[in-house]
Amino acid sequence: MCGIIGVVSGSPVNQLLYDGLQVLQHRGQDAAGIVTANGNSFHMHKGSGMVRDVFRTRNMRSLLGQAGIGHVRYPTAGSASNLAEAQPFYVNSPYGIVLAHNGNLTNTAELKEAMFRQDLRHINTNSDSEVLLNVFAHELQKQIYGRELCEDAIFNAIIEVNKRVRGAYAVVALIAGFGLVAFRDPYGIRPLVMGRHDGPNGTEYLLASESVALDCLGFRLERDVLPGEAVVVRMDGARSTRMCAEYQPHTPCIFEYVYFARPDSIIDGASVYQTRLLMGEKLGDKIRRQMPDLDIDTVIPIPDTSMPIALQLAKHLDLPFRMGFIKNRYVGRTFIMPGQATRKKSVRQKLNAIGSEFAGKNVLLVDDSIVRGTTSREIVQMARDAGAKKVYFASAAPEVRYPNVYGIDMPTRAELLATGRTVEEIAREIGADGVIYQDLGALRDAVHEANNALNDFEMSCFDGRYVTGDITDEYLAEIEGARGESKPQREEALGGGADLNLNVAEQNLM
Ligand code: AMP
Repeated sequence: MCGIIGVVSGSPVNQLLYDGLQVLQHRGQDAAGIVTANGNSFHMHKGSGMVRDVFRTRNMRSLLGQAGIGHVRYPTAGSASNLAEAQPFYVNSPYGIVLAHNGNLTNTAELKEAMFRQDLRHINTNSDSEVLLNVFAHELQKQIYGRELCEDAIFNAIIEVNKRVRGAYAVVALIAGFGLVAFRDPYGIRPLVMGRHDGPNGTEYLLASESVALDCLGFRLERDVLPGEAVVVRMDGARSTRMCAEYQPHTPCIFEYVYFARPDSIIDGASVYQTRLLMGEKLGDKIRRQMPDLDIDTVIPIPDTSMPIALQLAKHLDLPFRMGFIKNRYVGRTFIMPGQATRKKSVRQKLNAIGSEFAGKNVLLVDDSIVRGTTSREIVQMARDAGAKKVYFASAAPEVRYPNVYGIDMPTRAELLATGRTVEEIAREIGADGVIYQDLGALRDAVHEANNALNDFEMSCFDGRYVTGDITDEYLAEIEGARGESKPQREEALGGGADLNLNVAEQNLM
């Protein structure tokens, strides 16, 4: 998963983009990058690691300009260790364009081939974002022969991009000397919100993956960018929007609500926090219906994501909610670490049990999801080591059984704990006395109840239904094979970075 941000302001944007990326840090910790636009010049700095490691004062000083885009990267295609694949990406023609993307394209290989053979464009990395940038650049080039660059040309180019590109994409881009462009895939799988700030410098526009970035930067959430919609903001702040794709059912990714997004974000009109409360309520319902005799003494969340879920579940079942695990907030998300051995160690570095909450008790541990089961197995053992009598485990999401092709890093089917196992077998695998999974219908209802306008979702990792309709068994086998070969190896040296000052020559955009 990645986080993106783009802004056009009346004052320097370097600090604002930095702060925005820090707020979006939970969406990706492998690499970060910012590009600012100053007149016809781009200034870029990107590198491997967390935002605070990538940007030094000297880098910040060189990020001049009143418009810019930023990206935090969590690798889903390409390799985490390759600095060349940190975003944003740059092409020098037409005009000079930089682009950052959240999501994953599902026809990258065909596009890359077509780029090379027909469009005569060279793609230098394995990143689908570089492909997306080149498709956009090529389509824009076709639109502007002999014409002045204008919104029409940009929207028409995006219409063509949407015809050629498959998959999930929320995009921010800058066109040198012109302004900011943002667009979202026709199914609206990945989130993108738009906010404004009316101040002494006029109206400033900010687009970001999550509304929490708007809140923290003092912008007002105006609305979500619609599926298939594009937004253009000129350097002087003039904004236009247009639908650039044929209508498709809106199917936002349900995993954003389960795990990825911050609870204080509102995505597609649904408060993530509220959806998590509802997930807890529905999980409580299921326990009451199906296991009325379960001998639970306390409900314990696995911090942080499952806190509101467990809180509401406990309230619903009239059981005490207790903080049995304390999280070291200075350790990154464990999922980010490559390799099982590192991961196992990092669960214990990250969480510690409060003995008195477990000694002699039957506990219900609540997590947002079980993926490989590595975390759950370790946590169940920690509860037992702390003296728990019985350990039950509840997951706010159903069994994860299928790979995700739209930008969420999901292991291969062989690595997923739920593949080919019954709930009883899963309980045995993680060492629990019982496992309770949310039903898929209940999860869908939880988000629907938070915003009645949302009726369908991208939830392929639970039901194997890929909404874009182009995912074949061969494709899944291929990505699983590629994944096995190029498992991200995190660069040891954090804080490495690359500076690029792209002085795009003064040019007449007529
Ligand atoms: P595990 O079952 O050991 O693979 O870990 C599952 C935990 O990792 C969940 O409880 C989530 O908190 C978190 N998680 C789930 N899916 C992802 C993902 N795609 N990327 C990062 N973390 C995830």
